[in-house]
Amino acid sequence: MQAVQLEESITIAERMFQLIRRMYPICRSITGHGVRQTLEIISEYIPLTTYEIQTGVALFDWTAPKEWNIRDAFIKNSKGEKIVDFRNCNLHVLNYSVPVSKKVSLEELKAHTFTIPDHPDWIPYRTSYYAENWGFCLSHNQLLALSEDEYEVVIDSSLQDGHLTFGEYFIKGQTEHEVLISTHICHPSLANDNLSGIAVAVFLAKHLTQVASLKHSYRFLFTPGMIGSIAWLSRNESQVSRIAHGIIIACVGDSGQITYKKSRRGNAEIDHAVLQVLKDTGTTHQVLEFSPFGYDERQFCSPGFNLPVGCFMRTPHGKFPEYHTSADNLEFIQPQYLGDSLSKCSMILQLLEQNATYMNLNSKCEPQLGKRGLYGSIGGASDGRSLELAMLWVLNWSDGDHSLLDIAEKSGLKFLTIKNAADALHASGLLRRQ
Ligand code: ZN
Repeated sequence: MQAVQLEESITIAERMFQLIRRMYPICRSITGHGVRQTLEIISEYIPLTTYEIQTGVALFDWTAPKEWNIRDAFIKNSKGEKIVDFRNCNLHVLNYSVPVSKKVSLEELKAHTFTIPDHPDWIPYRTSYYAENWGFCLSHNQLLALSEDEYEVVIDSSLQDGHLTFGEYFIKGQTEHEVLISTHICHPSLANDNLSGIAVAVFLAKHLTQVASLKHSYRFLFTPGMIGSIAWLSRNESQVSRIAHGIIIACVGDSGQITYKKSRRGNAEIDHAVLQVLKDTGTTHQVLEFSPFGYDERQFCSPGFNLPVGCFMRTPHGKFPEYHTSADNLEFIQPQYLGDSLSKCSMILQLLEQNATYMNLNSKCEPQLGKRGLYGSIGGASDGRSLELAMLWVLNWSDGDHSLLDIAEKSGLKFLTIKNAADALHASGLLRRQ
């Protein structure tokens, strides 16, 4: 397969940004109509299958939660003026707030209020999924402006038996070995954390549908964070051994450098593939070892599964001040960074598709490359030397145990150079594909 080309990625980047702009106003949560509406929009781009799990269904140590929906919310002062309005910003409501409609004192209101004193203009994003509560998230300046008064607080929400919803898109390849791409879809108006991952995953899937022949099958998951991946794993436990490689995509639209968090295994092919792409493209990046917090790698890499799933990010969650605040908005992300993230992810998949293991059929001393037209006659003048060198590396390590990716790592050469060398040697009958 071909990776997304740079020129193409510029146009796609604008389209990803448009998709994010459409999804941004929706009040999403781990359940409810916001998730469904988001999946419907994604379905316009790729043919998604949507699953609904009833409230109360056991999911390993968890149960599918009650479904939460919200229509409106506000705080009014005694003059009847709306001083906080959910319709202006859906972050104003503590996500999963139970319904409330009552008059409260300033003191009681403050007990149900969340702010960020260090960033007095920003509204925090807070949730209370598993403990019933109600609350409002305000800018700290809004809080400071509140005087002694009687306030009317209304949260027109419902928390009832319903469903947990998630979406899945499967692309069948030549083998049952799957690449899992997963992203969370449970945050309301937050652009980098949640929407950037959705956009990159959607356009990665769209790109793959245009590839004529794929070695791997691909499974894209769009699930509410944590409980969604727990639900998927509990329903698909018997099939997870098919997952050969996996990437969680999150926070991929900001200007920060790329961050890759390794799988729990730490030496899975996906871990090596990501690092090879970042090295080959000269991308400044950071690598994090696995840790049991973060996104859905927590579930896929729980010890009972221990799947080869890493996490691809730019600036990691919690490491940018805008994280989980109203400042993670449409100005915080930029099309060029979305495009770069998409391009890098597609290169990673391309490498996984192209990686292979060969057996040298002429392994007793070096074969004569010259008489086969392979020495001094391959490729352009500038690349010729490295191709010859690459052929020597490929011949030496194609013992059936080392993949092209392994050989690229050992040689320090680019994966593509190693792959081109292997193609030439294979065409000359010097290699057999394992
Ligand atoms: Zn988040």
